[in-house]
Amino acid sequence: MADEKKRCKHPGCLCPADEGSDYCSAYCEGAGDRPEAICDCGCPDCMPS
Ligand SMILES: [Zn+2]
Ligand SMILES: [Zn+2]
Repeated sequence: MADEKKRCKHPGCLCPADEGSDYCSAYCEGAGDRPEAICDCGCPDCMPS
């Protein structure tokens, strides 16, 4: 089933946000207002290859 998930609000983050949160992790919540080209939250989706 393709259930639509909210994206993390951190600019540059590709992760789905946690339920009940605008961010995927505490890292993104802390960096939320700091625009970064590359997310460093550690999720596999965000890791540069
Ligand atoms: Zn991320
Ligand atoms: Zn994130």
